[in-house]
Amino acid sequence: MESMAFLVFISLAFLLITTLYQSYLPGYKGTVGEKIVARQLQRLNKNEYTVLNNIYLKVNGRSIQIDHLVLSVYGIFVIETKNYSGWIHGNENSEFWTQTFYKKKIKFGNPVKQNRAHIYFLKRVLASYKQLDYYSIIVFAGDGTLKNVCTQTPVVYKNRLIKTIRQVKTPVLSGEQVVEVADQIRRYRVIDRKVIKEHKNYVRRSYFERNRKINALICPDCGGELVVRNGKYGEFYGCSNFPRCRFIQSL
Ligand SMILES: [Zn+2]
Repeated sequence: MESMAFLVFISLAFLLITTLYQSYLPGYKGTVGEKIVARQLQRLNKNEYTVLNNIYLKVNGRSIQIDHLVLSVYGIFVIETKNYSGWIHGNENSEFWTQTFYKKKIKFGNPVKQNRAHIYFLKRVLASYKQLDYYSIIVFAGDGTLKNVCTQTPVVYKNRLIKTIRQVKTPVLSGEQVVEVADQIRRYRVIDRKVIKEHKNYVRRSYFERNRKINALICPDCGGELVVRNGKYGEFYGCSNFPRCRFIQSL
């Protein structure tokens, strides 16, 4: 009887640890954010807009993942979702944006650039539709505050998303062409679970690889040496190639 209770205890502990571990992985918060935005997009009129969520495309041997695509006679809206907290800073062309908590500063890849790459690949898939307009939108689904976000590309809170899409009112395609465009995207769509898993593992590996480098005091951006520096808010890791490389990470 005692061993039974022990077994149950072990299983529960295991379950708890896996759940906690998963919630720390970069993909987890992202998935939650994507669900929130997918729910927002359901508010669009289905006769007017076709919504495709979480799309994997394979173009020229490279697989990419797009959070949401909205197809319409007005063009194609390419939506990148971020689920972050804290204060968000960034601009159109910098390599990284920052998320600032209380005293912690974390860098993340510029979502405007990330989405620009998505549109670049989509344009290859839809090369025969020259008249097609592409609209990049970055949505913040978390409780983060957009501070000093200076971009031409719309960067909006989730409750502004529908309004941003509806602002575009000039038709560039016929209804039939929208159906064709959707079919063409489906032709490139990866639905093979194995390929999707490989893509996710790749993203996860690069996340761990970045952390591994920082722990080994190697700059993940330029390969330089990381040194401990002292700033207004205490000690942090800085790149020895500063000012050429501006990598920092709080200790
Ligand atoms: Zn560096």
